[in-house]
Amino acid sequence: MINAFIAPERLLLGPGPTNTDSRVLEAAAQPTIGHLDPAFQGLMEEIKEQLRMLFKTKNLMTMPISAPASLAMEMGLINLLEAGDKAIIAQNGVFGGRMADIVKRAGAELVHLEFEWGKPVDLDVVAEAIKAHPDAKMLGFVHAETSTGVRSDAYALCALAQDAGMLSLVDTVTGLGGIEVDVDGWGADVVYSGSQKCLAVPPGLAPITFNERAIEAIKSRKTPVQSWFMDLNLVLGYWSGDGARSYHHTAPVNALYGLHEGARLALEEGIDARIARHKNAYDRLAQGMAELGLDFFVDAEYRLPQLNTVTIPEGVDDAAVRARLLDEYDIEIGGGLGPMAGKIWRIGLMGGNANPEAVEKVLSALREVLGQ
Ligand SMILES: *Cc1c(COP(=O)(O)O)cnc(C)c1O
Repeated sequence: MINAFIAPERLLLGPGPTNTDSRVLEAAAQPTIGHLDPAFQGLMEEIKEQLRMLFKTKNLMTMPISAPASLAMEMGLINLLEAGDKAIIAQNGVFGGRMADIVKRAGAELVHLEFEWGKPVDLDVVAEAIKAHPDAKMLGFVHAETSTGVRSDAYALCALAQDAGMLSLVDTVTGLGGIEVDVDGWGADVVYSGSQKCLAVPPGLAPITFNERAIEAIKSRKTPVQSWFMDLNLVLGYWSGDGARSYHHTAPVNALYGLHEGARLALEEGIDARIARHKNAYDRLAQGMAELGLDFFVDAEYRLPQLNTVTIPEGVDDAAVRARLLDEYDIEIGGGLGPMAGKIWRIGLMGGNANPEAVEKVLSALREVLGQ
């Protein structure tokens, strides 16, 4: 017989998922109800309202996708792009690379701008590319690049796209709930996030928002979106309100109870207070790292407080350190992705873990493990 699964208790200080508040888990453990039950439809409306507040947008088309954030990325791109359209993708880490891959798979023409990992997207290079490709339909970039711990300037990048009459698509999977996200202030057209990073909700849901310009562009497509599940026109019928709701797919009912409670927690705390808390946790970590003689991989100006990349000191065994942290201290930190593997650690201080105790725990564990 197979025994019941008992999850170990870990302190999740990697690139996500982060630990979830007991209020979120308790909310998700409530009885399942039908996804077309009027009570559930009321919940859906409230979640849309909560996400608008968190994203800072008035966009009606704001909802959680029933999937991890990668699907929100793909959904945004394949709805905006038809075969033969041109898209500019600015890549400075792993996730921008995925955008580029999706653009190619959609049969669109890719203008691929690649920037040094650990540096933000260079505005001048993007401005040049926009000038050289005035026929491009959109610009895509990652606001908070989780593979390197770098923040790019979403205000400036969205403005460059808008001034050129192009659409902008912004990945703020790691940004939402941890640093400033200002969808309407940015003038961004499509923006998406994920549940498991600074919102501190279990993985598997992806908030996304489309403004009127994006919806116009999607409605005026000449060809249908190649994916049935991700076709915004069809999803719209399910998530748009006022009794017009039609069956599209069965929403992950209990997971959405959790998202609702997680968003309530974030809004109760207040967005600004939450951002300040993430910044304070980073300040403490930075101080402790300096005491341990550890260096950040990213210049201070562009660092994400919620995802800290640390240069692995010469002669230190990356995998062995992370394994000891997990086995002996129940602390998970992240390793480097792609070309950063073995070069950096990624210490996430996301959601509830952006607190002094979590910072002290990881610093004291690192002190002991590295001291030997
Ligand atoms: C985590 C992450 C994703 C993908 O999220 P999943 O939920 O794993 O699909 C996309 N972009 C960025 C910047 C991320 O940090």
